[in-house]
Amino acid sequence: MTTATSRPQLATTVAQLREIVDPVRRQGKTIGLVPTMGALHEGHLSLVRASQAECDYTVVTIYVNPSQFARGEDLARYPRTLKSDLDALARCGADLVFAPADDEVYRPGHSTWVEPPAVAGPLEGRCRPGHFRGAATVVLKLFNMADANVAYFGQKDYQQALVIRQMVRDLDLALEIRVCPIIRDPDGLALSSRNAYLSPDARRRATVLWKSLQLARELVAQGQRDAGTIAQRMRAVVLTAEDAQIDYVALVDPDSLEPVDRLTGRTLAVLAVKIENTRLIDNCFLEPEDGNAEF
Ligand code: AMP
Repeated sequence: MTTATSRPQLATTVAQLREIVDPVRRQGKTIGLVPTMGALHEGHLSLVRASQAECDYTVVTIYVNPSQFARGEDLARYPRTLKSDLDALARCGADLVFAPADDEVYRPGHSTWVEPPAVAGPLEGRCRPGHFRGAATVVLKLFNMADANVAYFGQKDYQQALVIRQMVRDLDLALEIRVCPIIRDPDGLALSSRNAYLSPDARRRATVLWKSLQLARELVAQGQRDAGTIAQRMRAVVLTAEDAQIDYVALVDPDSLEPVDRLTGRTLAVLAVKIENTRLIDNCFLEPEDGNAEF
């Protein structure tokens, strides 16, 4: 049941955020952080629940970070739905929402940036130059602002999670990273704020991403180990959607994201596809040792 009193506290400045979280930390409580860009869906809420299950206090950040969008991407039209986000978080019982304005995050004269690790190079890094520099910088800032013990990310943005994990290791940050499973619609499409851009017809066509991942799993279960063959079959499935434009369909090592030729161990199938000009990403593990492993 939603009640006015279950609404999370809202902070819009770093000073307000600190004023609330400092006493929480002083009481010895653990703080879980869920960084988001808002337009919340069940995928985001699954991260909130994971934080609530593990931490004493959950901070959700809602911030559409301009520095992780390249020119020509969808920054201006990205959905901003703060009121309904707060309602959803009230139903979930999150403790605090931090929703800063751009000039609170990037104060005048801001000029320090995180140089992202090597794992940021391929896939998204190649298609979206500067994306991980912006994402890593804002995530590091949010970690520091919220003084979090644990931060929660989705496997949906697999490469982002690897980049953040490596940043935490390389910069000796004193917090833990959790990566949570992908939440999907019943027809398999991974939940994404960007799905809202899709017309009903394009929404139907968008299931080709999931279908291609399923095919990859079936091929592996049948004994196929040649990465090129699997990727080619996946591409053919994606291209059954008439206007699909493939950025990449790849089979990669799950740690380095380097392409693999043959599947000898756990492998990541990963793809980025534009449908009706909306860019969608998805991924799943392929388990050659256990063709029937569940997602
Ligand atoms: P975003 O608001 O798109 O930046 O996403 C915020 C966090 O939610 C990221 O860690 C995403 O990986 C995660 N996320 C987005 N979609 C899903 C999903 N369908 N299932 C699980 N986590 C998700």
